[in-house]
Amino acid sequence: MSGLIDLVAFGDAMARYEPVIGLETHVELGTNTKMFCGCPTTFGLEPNSAVCPVCLGLPGSLPVANRAAIEYTIRIGLALNCTIASWCRFARKNYFYPDMPKDFQISQYDEPLCTDGSLEVAVEGQKFRIGIERVHLEEDTGKSLHVGGATGRIHGADYSLVDYNRAGIPLVEVVTKPIPGTGALAPVVARAYVTELRDLLRALKVSDVRMEEGSLRCDVNTSLAPYGATQWGTRTETKNVNSLRSVERAVRFEIERQAAVLDAGGKVVQETRHFHEDSGTTTAGRSKEEAQDYRYFPEPDLVPVAPEASWVEEIRSSLPELPATRRARLQSEWGLSDLDMAALLNIGALDLVAATVAAGASAADARKWWLGELARHANSAGVELPELAITPAQVARVAALVQDRTLNDKLARQVIEAVLAGEGEPDQIVSAQGLAVVTDDGALTQTVESVIAANPEVADKIRAGKTPAVGALVGEVMKATRGRADAARARELILQRLTEGS
Ligand SMILES: [Zn+2]
Repeated sequence: MSGLIDLVAFGDAMARYEPVIGLETHVELGTNTKMFCGCPTTFGLEPNSAVCPVCLGLPGSLPVANRAAIEYTIRIGLALNCTIASWCRFARKNYFYPDMPKDFQISQYDEPLCTDGSLEVAVEGQKFRIGIERVHLEEDTGKSLHVGGATGRIHGADYSLVDYNRAGIPLVEVVTKPIPGTGALAPVVARAYVTELRDLLRALKVSDVRMEEGSLRCDVNTSLAPYGATQWGTRTETKNVNSLRSVERAVRFEIERQAAVLDAGGKVVQETRHFHEDSGTTTAGRSKEEAQDYRYFPEPDLVPVAPEASWVEEIRSSLPELPATRRARLQSEWGLSDLDMAALLNIGALDLVAATVAAGASAADARKWWLGELARHANSAGVELPELAITPAQVARVAALVQDRTLNDKLARQVIEAVLAGEGEPDQIVSAQGLAVVTDDGALTQTVESVIAANPEVADKIRAGKTPAVGALVGEVMKATRGRADAARARELILQRLTEGS
């Protein structure tokens, strides 16, 4: 399916149907040990090397809750403006799956640790306040590997292997309330929400939030109803969407698919669906379980979680500056309009500009280089700005060399190019390639003399008081020095020579 057809189908659907989306985000917490035992949580260990009787569910073993995981969850809840429960319990979620050795998962059900919060996101100049239903703690399952067969799924596989290293890793699930009112922006709002949540979690230092390693993954709920309907439509849940781009694509695809079903007089089936990264489509998975299928009951092997109010306040007072607050602060420190700030965020340059300013550049210079010259380089190389082979410190150094008039803009661009090409530090490049501006008056005066001699008519105009004509002569000086002259100084010398009669 081409992008153009996608857009047309999507636009058509949006004319008739109103979407409601919802997101459930699973976050692997960056504690060093598992949720209910002391096994390490390091990524990429030898399969089944980080296991013990507790996370293998051996008879007689007893879980003990990880205090750090509870603290991290409270941090997340507070940062999302949630109410923190003063007393809550873990629950058993019963189901059989080979990668879950206990045959139940310890989770939270009707008594989550954090409830009723919000997170604000901005999309195309509009703000959306996303309601947070709950933030709860649970343990991850192991990982099955289906070998042979084309799809990597169990059907058609020759045999299946299981790695229990992940079993028992602490997971937080952040569940939004249903999000109506986004209209055609639904896919972009979904992506913006996950991006904002990821940045928040990173700032809180509770997870490494690497979507590609599965430490942040999303289930995306989508439903459609005709405009003006009194009830929301039946929702589908697209599981394990593993990149920001996929979040947006999954919502977009589900809107188109459900619109086509409804247009044909059909009914959307409540089910889980799989997202396919390669085609950007979803296919039906199992029909959705109801909560009662899991036979939840309070986990009898664990004491209730009752965080003291003083502990919660201590955690609250230790929260770092959150991304939204930081953005507002930097925008005001840098004196940027909303539009300028949005441009900077869109291109992913916020941290780079901040680091360049921290390395001594003015905000205006830092912004100019990253959004101008460097954005062009990134664009033509097809990479993101942070992937460019230049550091904020190097950009700050180039800006400083322009400030002290060692370089002009043209030479600075040459230095930037040489840094990107791996030719060394800015100062090395300037001296190795002789790129510094010629500020030596002796050399410059000679050039000025010969330029005046070669352009007598222009010189006469200036002598007659037509000062703006000096630009033409400065241009000739720049040409003669291959861009290395200090243009401002050249201008001064020309005017001195022609108007002061010296
Ligand atoms: Zn263990």
